Parts: sequence; C-alpha cells; structure tokens
Amino acid sequence: MFSKKRTSFLRTTTFRLTLWFLGVFSTLSLAVFMVVYVFLVSHLHDQTDTELLDTAKEFTSLYKERGITALQAEFTREAESRGTGRVFFELVSSAGKLSAASDMRLWTHPKPLSLAPPERSGTQPSFYTISRPGHRHKIRVISMPVMDGNIIRIATSLKGDERLLERYRETFGTALVIMLICGGLMGWLLAKKAMSGVKRVTETATKTGRHDFGKRVTLADEGEEINALVYAFNNMLERIESLISELQQITDNIAHELRTPVTRIRGIAETTLKSSENLEEFREMAASVIDGSDDLIEMIGTMLEIAKTDSGVIKLDVTQLDICKIIEDAADLFAPVAEDKRIKIFLEKPPRPLTVHGDRQRLQRVMANLLDNAIKYTPSGGSVSLSIAEDTAGVTVRISDTGMGIDEKDIPHVFDRFYRGDKSRSTTGTGLGLSLALAIIRAHGGDITIKSTNRGSAFTVSLPKERS
Ligand code: ADP
Repeated sequence: MFSKKRTSFLRTTTFRLTLWFLGVFSTLSLAVFMVVYVFLVSHLHDQTDTELLDTAKEFTSLYKERGITALQAEFTREAESRGTGRVFFELVSSAGKLSAASDMRLWTHPKPLSLAPPERSGTQPSFYTISRPGHRHKIRVISMPVMDGNIIRIATSLKGDERLLERYRETFGTALVIMLICGGLMGWLLAKKAMSGVKRVTETATKTGRHDFGKRVTLADEGEEINALVYAFNNMLERIESLISELQQITDNIAHELRTPVTRIRGIAETTLKSSENLEEFREMAASVIDGSDDLIEMIGTMLEIAKTDSGVIKLDVTQLDICKIIEDAADLFAPVAEDKRIKIFLEKPPRPLTVHGDRQRLQRVMANLLDNAIKYTPSGGSVSLSIAEDTAGVTVRISDTGMGIDEKDIPHVFDRFYRGDKSRSTTGTGLGLSLALAIIRAHGGDITIKSTNRGSAFTVSLPKERS
C-alpha cells in the first residue's frame, strides 16, 4: 500500500512540476558555473603567461647588458623573494648545458627535474604545462631564446591557481546543493499552490454525490487558468443541478397532472364497458377516448418542449425575421375566433419591418399563446390591442386586453407549469401556455412581464436585437 501511495505521488503534477523546476534551475546554475569557470581558467592562464613573459624579458635584457654573473645573482635573489619552491629560473646553452640556475633543491624530487622541452626553433618564446610525477600540481614553463642559442627557462608552480579553482568548485558545489534543496522546496511549494485550485475542484467533484449538486468550488484567485476552471466547473454543476431539478419537476408533473386526465379516460372506457350494450355508445366512448388522448398527447408534447427549452437542450432555429409580420399573421389567425366572441383586435405597428434574430416557429407559438389567452380571458364585446415598438435594447411587443385581469396573488405563479388562476378555472386550458412562452422568450435572451388590473391585463414581451 505504501509503495502504491509512493507511485501515485510520483505521478502527481505537483511532483512533475517540481522536477521540471529543479531540472531547469540546476541546468541554468550549471551553465552559469561553467561560464564563470571557463572565464576564470582563461584569466588565470593569461595572467600567469603574462607574468612569465615579463620576467623572461627582464632576465633577457639583464643577461644581454650585464652578463651571466649578474643573471645568476638575479636568478637567486628573485627565486628567494618569490619562493624557491614556487619558481625556478635557468639559463641553458645551445648544447643543453646548464649555465645558470636558481635554487633547484625543491625541484628535484623524486628525481632531478627535467623540463625537456620540445623547443621550437626561432626567436619566439614558447609556453607549455607539464605534470611532475608525485606532485599534485602542474607547472607552467616559458622557454625564451636569448642569444647565441641560449635559452632562459622560467617555471612556476600552478598550485595557487589550481587551489583557487578547487575552492571555486567546492564553494559552487556546496552552494548548488543548498540552492537545489531550497529550489526544490520552492518549486514544490509553487507547484502545490498552482495545483491547489485543481485539487479543490477534484475534491468538490468527488464529494458531489448523486443528490448533492448544490456544492460549489470557492474562487480563491489562484490565476486566470484556475479561475476559468473553477467557473467552468461551477457552471457545469449549475447546469447539472438545473437539469436534475427539471427532471424532478417533470416527474412530479407526470405524477400529479397527467394522472387526472388518464383516470378520466379510463373511467369513460370502464363505464361504457360495464353498462353499455349498443354499438353507438361504444362509438361515443371511442371518440371521447381519442379526444382525451389527443389532449394528453398535446400536453405531454408541450411539457417536453418546455423542459427542453428551459434546460437549453433544444437548439433554436435562429434566422433574421420581421417581428411585425409574425404579429400580423397571429392577428389574422385569431380574427375569426375574436369575431365569434365580438372582440375587436387593434394592431399598432411601425411603418417599416422590425428585424430580430429568432426562431420563427417558436416565436409564432409565443404570440399565438398570448393572443389566445387575451381573447379567451376577455368577455364578449371587449378588445385586444397589439403594439410593437423598438428601443436601443431591442424590440417590445405588448398584448393587452380589456378582460378579467389576473389576481395579484396569481401574477407571480402564472408562468409556473400547470398553474391556472382561480378566475379562469371555468375556462378550458392546461396551464402550460405561459410557461412555454416564457421558456422560449428566455431562450432568445428576452423576458415577459405582466401588468394587470381587474379591467384587463397587458403582457410585454421584450426581445434583444442581437441574440447573445
Ligand atoms: P391556460 O390559459 O391554459 O390556463 P396559461 O399558462 O396560458 O394557461 O395561463 C396561465 C394562467 O394565467 C391562466 O390560467 C390564467 O389564470 C392566467 N392568464 C393568462 N393570460 C391571461 C389574460 N390575458 N387575462 C387573464 N388571465 C390570464
């Protein structure tokens, strides 16, 4: 179990980010070290060679001006002042004979030091580095031709330079270990912080059980990406919650509202079956069952349409359309019904077409529902007025009537599914028309508002010009 836990830790993004951070951090540190190291080596090298060359030049002038005795004395003095273990000087003849040299005692171990240079002929000085058997540190040599085939050779130990470089390596190594520990810790903390939003989303998702879609991830401003993730996740939860409540509502509706008409249809069939004997009565029963079933089918269709529109499952078939034309068509469609009831329909519209982006069929259905209600709930002799207007936000359609009005207590509920006002119980209806109308208008980004008194009602539909 422990090893399983460890494997899953190694697979976490926090761990991988930390590794990345450490990788980049150590590569950069090493690169800086290398650059400084190369620069330091080359600088020390140049410095040593310049010093060797200057000294060789001084000895050459001395030899030329004052001869071998003065050179020998200067070799001894200079070697003592710099340290006989650090440098030595020698003058070698063309035959390879040592003509003058500083104190060489410290340079003979384990056997007499032979510089044995692969001398280049010519007059130019040459530099070379050699290792001494049994000694850790190398030496740097300059071989300077003077005159008559003689050569001045100066050797200096590179102990100081090599120690400096060693110390640099040691110091950098220690600093690198400390930096890697701190960097690793910092990387881990940063990665952990960056991942904390994701972790919270995961925790909420895990906790969100079958009946607990009310939970939301709190926004902690952990950066744009995490904020976007939190928003998207919360939106998704909200959608799931609304779909579930939609489903719940449909189930409730089916249980309460559909039971009555189904029981009624069943009752008609049962009574006929038990008490009727002639074919005519069976025919009547069949006709009633068909009518009742048709109503039921329509009701179920409307219920599904509302649920799908409300939950956003439905895709509107949006085109550019003239809203005035839709209202005009609705008025024409309902003219015969209004005439039958001796209700006048007035239409007030702007002289030019008013374009909105919408689903033609669904908007026609909204206008038909509202106009149907206005005529249905207005007593004979009354009137219904339709007006269309435009403002900066969009288009408004007002459908007002001189009917019975809606009680104040009913107004907040008339858009609920199956809700029917007390005053309208005697009129036929399902209580679904306004719910569907509002769902469709909301899906278009608009709204429906009501104003009502006991002298009539006015429904105002507002639609935005551009659908968001
Ligand atoms: P239905 O008309 O089938 O009952 P609706 O959803 O269309 O269902 O309307 C819901 C309720 O709102 C109606 O039962 C009625 O009480 C009230 N209502 C709607 N329109 C009007 C209106 N123009 N005048 C008075 N009451 C109305």
